[in-house]
Amino acid sequence: MSPIFPCKGCGTFIERSTQHYRRVKGQVLCSTCSDARREAEARTLRRRHPLRRLLFRIRSFWS
Ligand SMILES: [Zn+2]
Repeated sequence: MSPIFPCKGCGTFIERSTQHYRRVKGQVLCSTCSDARREAEARTLRRRHPLRRLLFRIRSFWS
């Protein structure tokens, strides 16, 4: 039986393995919160991607 941990995002109690708990260093997230976090990280990455900004600059230079 897996131990129960509270989600760091919303506090919902979820069943996770001890290995998982160690892997995430105690930052256990339920599937909803981990999805939301992944999405937020992806958004941040897209926004801050330097190459993308460079491409945008080049494109506006030529148009
Ligand atoms: Zn949660």
